[in-house]
Amino acid sequence: MAETRHTRVLIIGSGPAGYTAAVYASRAMLNPVLIQGMQPGGQLTITTEVENWPGDKTVMGPDLMQRMEDHAREMGAEVITDIVTRLDLSRRPFTAETDSGTTWTADAVILATGAQARWLGLPSEEKFKGFGVSACATCDGFFYRGREVVVIGGGNTAVEEALFLTNFASKVTVVHRRDSFRAEKIMQDRLFKNPKITVVWDSAVTEVKGTEAPLGVTAVTVQNVKTGETRDIPCDGFFVAIGHAPASELVKDQLELHNGGYVKVEPGSTRTSIAGVFAAGDLTDHIYRQAVTSAGMGCMAALDAEKFLAGH
Ligand code: NAP
Repeated sequence: MAETRHTRVLIIGSGPAGYTAAVYASRAMLNPVLIQGMQPGGQLTITTEVENWPGDKTVMGPDLMQRMEDHAREMGAEVITDIVTRLDLSRRPFTAETDSGTTWTADAVILATGAQARWLGLPSEEKFKGFGVSACATCDGFFYRGREVVVIGGGNTAVEEALFLTNFASKVTVVHRRDSFRAEKIMQDRLFKNPKITVVWDSAVTEVKGTEAPLGVTAVTVQNVKTGETRDIPCDGFFVAIGHAPASELVKDQLELHNGGYVKVEPGSTRTSIAGVFAAGDLTDHIYRQAVTSAGMGCMAALDAEKFLAGH
């Protein structure tokens, strides 16, 4: 049933930034409400092992996020499985409408909506999405047992996905547009040592080819960016791992953005262009984008919100 509820602090998003903000805001006795969004737990729920979360030499991404959620709830945050569909930041209290029909009013808002996978933008990529084209190896890798797959990208995500896919696929080809990766050296090392992985350097994917009925991928066309030469690489699956774009749709016409859609915050703080609205994590960070830095910014956002509320 449609209802309107009020909270002092509304946290939107459930990655490390959102849950850390919830822990800190709870401990400041602000009784925060956190709305989880489309993908509860965020990007870490679609990764496997995380090896750079301090205190855990290795931890599974979904386990880490479950622990963060439990922690936030235990501290007193109200964690709600819902999606904010509209946000009005033009006056205080701010208003958020949700998919369930509940409208929230809030004295302060912490935005922690994170980022989502970026796509190449090819019509053929769109056509085969879900039918051989994927942006999530942990979700879809299982379907490629004994098959050949291609991964595009040169960052941590691409290297991690390629390594993960070797658990299923018979062959993994990584296509990258330059002649070196930007992924962490330790990850690159593992990739180069894996006999199932081949790297095609200096190349772009220009088309995904496949069958019509049933829809399915059979190859990708790659073009060498130096020589212009094109060729097809046969494959059953194509994984796009070319980075992430900030999920700033809700606020794009209300807050100052920069660097292609990231919410702009005052340096050294999480204050956005509207007083009482704070942003943390991948939504605002185009440089570091790590779980631990997002958590750090979540903490900052809760402290900034506490200070703001104390002054109002
Ligand atoms: P990223 O670091 O931004 O890398 C994106 C890669 O895709 C780059 O190699 C880039 O090439 C390539 N690329 C971008 N646009 C392209 C296009 N249109 N066509 C072809 N290639 C394209 O993104 P990410 O790998 O998703 O990582 C995002 C952040 O999450 C990073 O900060 C990363 O460290 C972090 N992360 C960390 C871990 C971990 O620590 N275990 C795991 C996953 C992600 P160029 O290199 O030429 O720019």
